[in-house]
Amino acid sequence: MATKRYTITAALPYTNGPIHIGHLAGVYVPADIYARYLRLTGNDVAFICGSDEHGVAIPMRAKKEGVSPQEIIDTYHGIIKRSFEDFGISFDNYSRTSASIHHHTASDFFVKLYEQGDFVEKVTEQLYDEEAKQFLADRFVIGTCPRCGYEEAYGDQCENCGTSWSATDLIDPRSTITGAKPSRKKTKHWFLPLDRYESFLREWILEGHKDDWKPNVYGQCKSWIDDGLKPRAVTRDLDWGIPVPVEGGQGKVLYVWFDAPIGYISSTKEWAAREGKDWEPYWKDEKTKLVHFIGKDNIVFHCIIFPSMLKAHGDLILPENVPANEFLNLEGNKLSTSKNWAVWLHEYLQEFPEKQDVLRYVLTANAPESKDNDFTWKDFQARNNNELVAIFGNFINRVVVLTHKYFAGEVPSASAFSAYDDKVMTQLRGFPERIAKSIERYRFREASQQLMNLARLGNKYLADEEPWKLIKTDRERVQTIMHVALQIAAGLAILSEPFLPFTTEKLKKILNVTPSPVEGSLAWDTVYVKEALLPAGHQVNKGELLFGKIEDEDIQKQLDKLEATKKANEAANKNVVPQKETISFEDFTRLDLRVGTIIEAQKMPKTNKLLVIKVDTGIDVRTVVSGIAESFKPEDIVGKQVTVLANLAPRKLRGVESQGMVLMTEDAEGKLVFVNPDEVGVNNGERIA
Ligand SMILES: [Zn+2]
Repeated sequence: MATKRYTITAALPYTNGPIHIGHLAGVYVPADIYARYLRLTGNDVAFICGSDEHGVAIPMRAKKEGVSPQEIIDTYHGIIKRSFEDFGISFDNYSRTSASIHHHTASDFFVKLYEQGDFVEKVTEQLYDEEAKQFLADRFVIGTCPRCGYEEAYGDQCENCGTSWSATDLIDPRSTITGAKPSRKKTKHWFLPLDRYESFLREWILEGHKDDWKPNVYGQCKSWIDDGLKPRAVTRDLDWGIPVPVEGGQGKVLYVWFDAPIGYISSTKEWAAREGKDWEPYWKDEKTKLVHFIGKDNIVFHCIIFPSMLKAHGDLILPENVPANEFLNLEGNKLSTSKNWAVWLHEYLQEFPEKQDVLRYVLTANAPESKDNDFTWKDFQARNNNELVAIFGNFINRVVVLTHKYFAGEVPSASAFSAYDDKVMTQLRGFPERIAKSIERYRFREASQQLMNLARLGNKYLADEEPWKLIKTDRERVQTIMHVALQIAAGLAILSEPFLPFTTEKLKKILNVTPSPVEGSLAWDTVYVKEALLPAGHQVNKGELLFGKIEDEDIQKQLDKLEATKKANEAANKNVVPQKETISFEDFTRLDLRVGTIIEAQKMPKTNKLLVIKVDTGIDVRTVVSGIAESFKPEDIVGKQVTVLANLAPRKLRGVESQGMVLMTEDAEGKLVFVNPDEVGVNNGERIA
């Protein structure tokens, strides 16, 4: 088989917190499946990653915890690296951007571009926190996203819509250090003039990768390019990061998104030096296929900014594909490190020991490949119990038990195949190509379901042929049946390796075959070229269960944990929504707020939320439509005194004219409550001021 060289990178995790299932589903599990598959099919693979230790999130977290940034990165680098290893992510190298090889590589990269005249120097006004005496960029600033209106957008990017910004673009910016409204102060920086790369990006992405990049990635790139690209500062006024290595760079560091992707190159160098290889072909040979696995929030950096840097550099190859995934949610809510709304990998590994493959499988089968998806513990349990245990595990267990029971663990020889046997063997031989095609098109979800279909095929074959009945009357036929079933089992042992590496290892031990990638082992393509993967006379070992059932109480424990997190967040979230813009006294006097009594209430037909209420306002009796039906039953509110905004312009809701508004607020559980005058009765029509 012709082998190809691949450089596969997985997004560098920030060392400001541990890894959670969102990271795994979006980046690391698909990247690992891809790398394992390519190695199994005989390719030359460098699978590269490392910790990103220069984000401003690091000194921020250090400040919060009262320790040094170095302590933060050492702690999380350790936790992250270890949890990846324990989870079977098969990086060839996991480096860190604080390593000196990276500082040198990134510095040299910057100097090369500087000397080639690829930067523009500009003195601009940047946001400055007078109280902290510090320039504010990136995560030191939050404000409103000019594109989507998200109010917590960071100074370099809005995590809600993925758009990249400069801090000065944000509406109502505020310092995350002091909360102050920043002033502006002049400072000099180096900019990468992205506008110069527009025609290159147009040709390379919009024309060159129209058909092979995922629509979500292509679409985002197109919208940025069409919006027009602007020069982007690649340096910052900070003291944490890689010092700017040129004249005038004192007190400044490289922007983290300039240095981080160069981390892929330094990590490759570190690996090559250790393995006695040459790193250069992995980044310079046009025949090498470079693939970046990332989440959708990193698309702009990997498809627009880093390729422009690579293009400017001149000696380096461009990515062939950037198969970014969408986001994974947890039980209906957005994953969040700061809110602790996550399933943390290191905790999972402790709470579900030996169950790495279950999580790998669930995250793949439900991967957010083309849209955001939801992880639920119920689905996790169901996929384990109904698929891994009931289909895959059950098939292997039956095959191994019956082989021992009837043939003392020896693969029986087959006599003439029936038409059904032939059909099943032909189907088996079709699986490697089908799975390979899905993987090569980055459809890992589909690939994992193909694998499960192979196990289904085996289960159905045994159920149809019923060797346990035939054994009393036709032992020769049972030999053939078990021979065929054992070939399917061997096929599963080979083809499951990219998805379920721990299971593969167990299964190969049971089937008594050499573990890959040892020479002469059962390679991927042997499934369709070999007459028999397990020849007659081959001795199979005693079985062990591949998967165990997950019980309701295990799932309840996890749900309870999340419930506790929710409660803790609510308690901590006493910080309220910031005050709105100041209004004048005249503005206020225009509001006609009055006390009223609800005299009638009924549900709006065909809606869940709306109640139609009649309120005696003291002036008149009027109809108000209110979205409170989920919090109140109509009969419970009749007779209640409420605050009414009486002079709100009438508007029609579902054909009913609403003549005012009943003022409401939310209690701690998110249930609506009336803003009522008091329990003491007040005359209707009394004004509130
Ligand atoms: Zn946005």
